[in-house]
Amino acid sequence: MPAERWEGPVDEQEAPDDRPITRAEADTSVLEQRPRISPLEDCPAEPGTPKPDAILVADQVSRTYGGLRAVDVEHLELQRGVITSLIGPNGAGKTTFFNLMTGFDRPDTGRWSFNGRPLARVPAYKVARRGMVRTFQLTKSLMRLTVLENMKLAAVDQRGERFFSALFPGRWRAQEAAIERRADELLERFKLDHMRDEFAGTLSGGQRKLLDMARALMVEPEMVMLDEPMAGVNPALTQSLLGHITGLRDRGMTVLFVEHDMDVVMGISDWVVCMAEGRIIAEGPPDKICMNRAVIDAYLGTRHDEPGYEGEGQA
Ligand code: ATP
Repeated sequence: MPAERWEGPVDEQEAPDDRPITRAEADTSVLEQRPRISPLEDCPAEPGTPKPDAILVADQVSRTYGGLRAVDVEHLELQRGVITSLIGPNGAGKTTFFNLMTGFDRPDTGRWSFNGRPLARVPAYKVARRGMVRTFQLTKSLMRLTVLENMKLAAVDQRGERFFSALFPGRWRAQEAAIERRADELLERFKLDHMRDEFAGTLSGGQRKLLDMARALMVEPEMVMLDEPMAGVNPALTQSLLGHITGLRDRGMTVLFVEHDMDVVMGISDWVVCMAEGRIIAEGPPDKICMNRAVIDAYLGTRHDEPGYEGEGQA
């Protein structure tokens, strides 16, 4: 059942970046808003656990750099329509896993499917067309283009770019207008409409993160993968970003996001997957994951193959 929609603070975009969160904003904090019934309630909290309605399924996916096994995922299923957080210490393989799933990197081994269709060796732009998009830790917005131009660039399959279509303006003008309408709707939703014609380079760090998210939605994806969307964002805009992430889930989208802030992870996730040294070492609902021995050890640096270690995969 979808959570109540969070409308978000009305005026956070007008506020200076370092403005403290007001009491009223704190009261509407998305951190307190969770779906009441999770479709994952009956799933065992263990690595590789099957999901009732998996949108992404990965098997035996590995990626090695030199002698280093950056990703070594045996089996992972991601449930449709929920927020899954991917956590793990620095260098655990989270970004590499994102890159592999979305066609930005090639694995050494493995197969994975999205909505039941195999995705191995499908290039990134086709992965996006099939409905799975990602954002990056560092913004990919083009600073010397306007906010609107950045949005329009993110739309796929534009007819005016094809040679023959370009000869017939009537064919692409209607599509161009539709793309601009969608861009304007999204800019309004993300409260960036007043920056529409400004260069992206003039946006604050937090606004760039919002623009990245808005751009990702131009292709009307079913699933978004957000790589540290909160990194470097001030507290006022953090609330806004969190509101947008839960808003995506409430609109029926599937969200996978990498995050280091455990309060955020515990607050908005329906499910948490933890990686360490390339492997999935634990999965479960947030309240179980924060007490999971393997997760705690991974963050504290204890190796799972050390004598005396107990409890891998147990939440
Ligand atoms: P962080 O939380 O710090 O972003 P992460 O969990 O996303 O870390 P990755 O960035 O996926 O981890 O890196 C996993 C491992 O692979 C690290 O040891 C990293 O140094 C290594 N690695 C990643 N990309 C490359 C590359 N292009 N060449 C060589 N090694 C790489």
